[in-house]
Amino acid sequence: MPSAPIELSLQDGGRVTVAPGSSARQALIAAGLDLADGALLASIDGEVVELDRPLVHGGELKAITFAEPRGAEAYRHTASHVMAQAVKRIYPDAVLAIGPAIEDGFYYDFGLDETIRPDDLPRIEEEMARIVAEDLSLVRRELPASEAKALFESRGESYKVELIEDLGQDVVTIYEQGEFADLCRGPHLSSTGAVAAFKLLSTAGAYWRGDENREMLQRIYGTAFDTPDALEEYIHNREEAEKRDHRRLGPELELFSIRDEIGPGLVIYHPRGAVLRTVIEDYLKQEHARRGYELVISPHIMRKSVWETSGHLDMQYPMYFFEIEGQGYGIKPMNCPAHIAIYKSRTRGHHELPIRYFELGTVYRHERSGVLHGLLRVRGFTQDDAHIFCTMEQAADEIDGAIRFAFEAQRTFGFTEFKIALSTRPDHSVGNEEDWSKATEVLKSALESNGLDYFIDEGEGVFYGPKIDVKLRDAIGRLWQGPTIQFDFNLPRRFEMSYVGPDNSEHTPVMIHRTVLGSMERYMGILIEHYAGAFPAWLAPVQVEILPIADRHVEHAEGLARKLRSRSVRVQVNDERETTGNKIRKAWKMKVPYMIVVGDREVESQSVSVRSLAGRDERGVDLERFTAELLDEIASRRSCEV
Ligand SMILES: [Zn+2]
Ligand SMILES: [Zn+2]
Repeated sequence: MPSAPIELSLQDGGRVTVAPGSSARQALIAAGLDLADGALLASIDGEVVELDRPLVHGGELKAITFAEPRGAEAYRHTASHVMAQAVKRIYPDAVLAIGPAIEDGFYYDFGLDETIRPDDLPRIEEEMARIVAEDLSLVRRELPASEAKALFESRGESYKVELIEDLGQDVVTIYEQGEFADLCRGPHLSSTGAVAAFKLLSTAGAYWRGDENREMLQRIYGTAFDTPDALEEYIHNREEAEKRDHRRLGPELELFSIRDEIGPGLVIYHPRGAVLRTVIEDYLKQEHARRGYELVISPHIMRKSVWETSGHLDMQYPMYFFEIEGQGYGIKPMNCPAHIAIYKSRTRGHHELPIRYFELGTVYRHERSGVLHGLLRVRGFTQDDAHIFCTMEQAADEIDGAIRFAFEAQRTFGFTEFKIALSTRPDHSVGNEEDWSKATEVLKSALESNGLDYFIDEGEGVFYGPKIDVKLRDAIGRLWQGPTIQFDFNLPRRFEMSYVGPDNSEHTPVMIHRTVLGSMERYMGILIEHYAGAFPAWLAPVQVEILPIADRHVEHAEGLARKLRSRSVRVQVNDERETTGNKIRKAWKMKVPYMIVVGDREVESQSVSVRSLAGRDERGVDLERFTAELLDEIASRRSCEV
């Protein structure tokens, strides 16, 4: 404990001195900072300090609010203590495991024979509200490990005892609030009363320490915000996101499924999903050809030695290996080596450059089962992958072209807002400074000349070159990982690539890896969530569903379907024996953009009744007019209102 006064500097340039033993709260008050402005913690020279702890040294004093990640984290972690205390009051046999803050919330794991179900959560919330109203101080104590162990043993907290043993420290910290005690490093808010708005969200099973050989515990997820309004907005967005969840909509709309008998992280496309994917692939093939890319195709497995040359083996890249006739092979996690092999199949002269190879390349990576997530994190996926080989002088035009292509494609699919990162040279990297700075400059000026806002992610490039990462903002404001454009100074050297220059000597080409969408799987996942499954007509697996009112209208309906099909419209007739109302509801549920209802009146007048997902409801429409409008909508790849 310092015995001299503590000197503090403030952000606005002011200085303040407080008596030894003063707390961060007293220092903030002395500095004239209004605690009502939402100070949850303080920081001294960047180090977080709890409000009621005595300061041990001076430095730059700052208040930390909820707006700062460290503030929100301590806030939500404190809420997890409040929840654990409430659970212990209701279920005295619950054994405490761990309760960290996570992105957007917190959880706590408990060992308990009785199952806590979602309908038990309101009761726990009520008890939490009581604990908040009790405004209990969170008191920090440093205890010798043996004493802390004895304390938790006496309370039956066997997991805490195990944690103390594993920590192997002489002294541990515990936090007490009322009758509740937890082993914890902190930091926390000073009292339970500071937790203003919280909600418990769900329950789940979780293994103690993530080890499937240990006990299964019960996890309760919750969230907390600094104001009730912020909490309400979060809950609303969460419900909206749940409605759009591609893991639910994918099987519901019969697009895809991921099944245990096939294997985790492996996607099977059902007919409707295969149509959607084919439409996207056709678009990509057409657009790549239009922009001077050549389509190539490479095998799914390649010799292990290729992955030695590429460096994947040294990097311990998460690949699958096996043997054929005593020879080692790897399933490709990337397509690059095959494209390099095509390049190297003969001598290249400078007149041939740039060379652009495009492949819808299916790759496999060994992701741990715990991180797999719908279409977004999978073990097998197809990249819209291209490699451009060119000279450094050509790189500017090539990057400009790749950027224009990527953003034109994103706009076509209905995305108009982006977050763009330019990642620069990291500490450990290959290639010389001149190449790095040229390449970084090329990326920068291409973004700027295309009027795109970006931020610099300093030192976050991959070791082999600078890159651009694009995130897409969806209909409800969420960001998703989209295309990447990446320089590579590594592979051309490792694979000894060259071209004969105007000087008749050999030079190493520049290599650029780039995608326009990312991967088919990820992009379909993003599209499903962006459109909530209601795709624009050009993407919709079924564009028109024809609904005959009675059996006698089926033949006429089939005739209409044939006419539309002959114009390449994806059409389906629902001839099931059920009410028209039911048929309409089913088509709505499958998010078919257009419905044509056929009854006596329509057969007689040779017209159609049109309903659309977007709200159109019109009778007596001429079939030719409807077809022409629909074909125009499809050909222009118009996005519907999201
Ligand atoms: Zn804690
Ligand atoms: Zn590549």
